[in-house]
Amino acid sequence: MTLPDSGGRFGEYGGRFAPETLMDTLTELEKAFLEAWADPDFKSEYHRLLADFVGRPSPLFAADRLSDRIGVRVLFKREDLNHTGAHKINNTIGQALLAQRMGKPRIIAETGAGQHGVATATAAALLGMRCQVYMGSKDIARQALNVYRMELLGTEVIPVTTGARTLKDAVSEAMRDWVASAGDTHYIIGSVVGPHPFPLSVREFQKVIGEELEEQLAGTPVDLIVACVGGGSNAIGIFFPFIGTEVELVGVEAGGEGIESGRHGASLSHGRPGVLHGAHTYLLQDEEGQVLEAHSASAGLDYPGVGPEHAYFKDAGLVRYESVTDVEALEAFHLVGELEGIIPALESAHAVAWVVREAKVLAGKTVVINMSGRGDKDVEQIREMEGG
Ligand SMILES: *Cc1c(COP(=O)(O)O)cnc(C)c1O
Repeated sequence: MTLPDSGGRFGEYGGRFAPETLMDTLTELEKAFLEAWADPDFKSEYHRLLADFVGRPSPLFAADRLSDRIGVRVLFKREDLNHTGAHKINNTIGQALLAQRMGKPRIIAETGAGQHGVATATAAALLGMRCQVYMGSKDIARQALNVYRMELLGTEVIPVTTGARTLKDAVSEAMRDWVASAGDTHYIIGSVVGPHPFPLSVREFQKVIGEELEEQLAGTPVDLIVACVGGGSNAIGIFFPFIGTEVELVGVEAGGEGIESGRHGASLSHGRPGVLHGAHTYLLQDEEGQVLEAHSASAGLDYPGVGPEHAYFKDAGLVRYESVTDVEALEAFHLVGELEGIIPALESAHAVAWVVREAKVLAGKTVVINMSGRGDKDVEQIREMEGG
């Protein structure tokens, strides 16, 4: 696996579509990342923090009661047990260490619902770095608890009042800040998106999930690995070591209110290629190429773009991309709670929902589902949605 190429391209996707003023910063970052990642001391510090601070390796758990119910042998890769409750911390710890190595004391990030903001604030506190997080004012109002969490961790949350005042606008504002501040500031992006080298570095920090899985399976055959896809980082993280092997890989996008409704987040299965946030990739867009808003009950999947490497995997037929609706994900959310004693993140419930829907076709097979996060953050929203 030699992609991306030196231009940060995965086939025709990816690249570096950034303002002239950021080009040197991105080149410097690429060089610093490649050097750090080849340095055994950097890697061992990264893995030490993943072990002692995050709690890795995350267990591989046989979901026996769910397996009996649906007639498919299901294993969960338990990223929900990581410190801060999801896979995002694997990336933020790596990126913060990189910033420290580059001598940049200030961290900025964007956040939608606040999950990436909290994971970034956590890494910044751990390493004693100054941290500011851009967040749409609409999201700030909806996610007051995560705003407070970031503040408890010593991070300042900066409201974004442009555009729809949500995630896409927060990314744009964070990039604008970085153009002016790159001398002392590192930008920690929340998924395998953005201009080169981010899709590469985030993948490298997340592939620990798949590498652990390989070891935990110890040669036991599995038929499929299934993960939800927002920007695509937990999916790439678990898929990466299995690309091009016998194992079938399935990415599950947000079908939202149903594909026909037009209100969904399925950029790979129902979008078209275009440029957003520095990369050429599949996007939700209208006839004129205007980027559309994504819709999903699950905040982590509510993004109109997707990592460029997934666009490449899709066209090359290396990964299959499907979608499930909000309603299907909610049913799976309940099923996992009742049968396994695990309340999954609504994002992760999308991956479970696809397996449940396809159970007849998958009968007798062994499937690993990436349990990308825990659902504590979703409980209040779901209680309200269900009128509880
Ligand atoms: C953010 C998030 C996602 C979606 O992001 P990816 O980059 O697609 O992994 C999925 N699950 C959880 C729990 C998240 O917090």
